[in-house]
Amino acid sequence: HCKKSRSAFARFDPQLDEHSLNNLTLMTDAKQALENKQFCLHYQTQIDSDTGAVSGLEALIRWQHPTQGFISPDDFIPSLELSGDINALSCWVLEQALTDYEQLKPHLSKPLALSINISALNLLEERFLTSVEAIMLRFPARPTLVMEITENALMSDPEYACTMMQALVKRGVEFSIDDYGTGYSSLSYLSRLPVSELKIDRSFIFDMETDLRHFTIVQSTVQLAKSLDLRTVGEGCETAISSSILKDLNCDKQQGYFFSRPVSMEELISHFQSMDGS
Ligand code: C2E
Ligand code: CA
Ligand code: CA
Ligand code: CA
Repeated sequence: HCKKSRSAFARFDPQLDEHSLNNLTLMTDAKQALENKQFCLHYQTQIDSDTGAVSGLEALIRWQHPTQGFISPDDFIPSLELSGDINALSCWVLEQALTDYEQLKPHLSKPLALSINISALNLLEERFLTSVEAIMLRFPARPTLVMEITENALMSDPEYACTMMQALVKRGVEFSIDDYGTGYSSLSYLSRLPVSELKIDRSFIFDMETDLRHFTIVQSTVQLAKSLDLRTVGEGCETAISSSILKDLNCDKQQGYFFSRPVSMEELISHFQSMDGS
């Protein structure tokens, strides 16, 4: 039922032009960056629409390249997928996020859910499951862990991906469909996978108040998700208007610059510290 797949390597240009030479350099550099610990995680808050309180965090990777400056994850993640290092990267992210969370925990009045982004390829390799299990064992008091994955990621081998997801769910992981609405799959198809959450893509959220079609897409997605027992998150919420629309539509959670940009763990901790004192 899902023939339209898009390669995880779609951004890679196989021709030896300047762009791919740059990709090759990036690939080597990204591998080294992982070994040399040049990555760090920033965190963006997720807000409960009903209470307005922070209820979760999404970890977003950052790479300060020694000569090229800041490089977007959209540009180096594909390189790591190509070079075969994406398992190592995702495991690093998981371990770092759980380590960072331990630091944050003493400042929280209630636990937060912790979301990380994983790659399509992770769900196609048995060793991902083994590595995740090993990491989770080391963090017995971990928060609820959510793995965000794009819908197209599930398309290259849906059956295998589904088996992997089930195994991870058994170990307490939840799955979220990222950038929902930009891919090719139907919600009825996705709801047959062990998925708990949909993140409605920011391209629909940002102009909901002026684009009736986008408003309608968000509205009906939230309704359908609800009837399928899926939680919804509106991402890329940049304004008070989008936020109140999401609340009115009963979208469960909201995330975006209106609440906070992704920030370092130090900044996050001082945010919660200042709330402690009030
Ligand atoms: P994403 O998972 O869809 O993450 C949301 C992106 O939107 C982030 O960009 C975030 O900084 C940005 N964003 C958040 N709120 C707003 C808003 O209100 N308005 C706008 N215009 N943008 C907003 P970022 O951090 O550059 O990440 C880009 C993509 O890179 C992510 O998209 C995700 O697909 C990927 N990525 C990031 N971290 C990781 C990671 O640790 N592992 C993997 N595999 N992929 C990652
Ligand atoms: Ca995400
Ligand atoms: Ca997204
Ligand atoms: Ca994205």
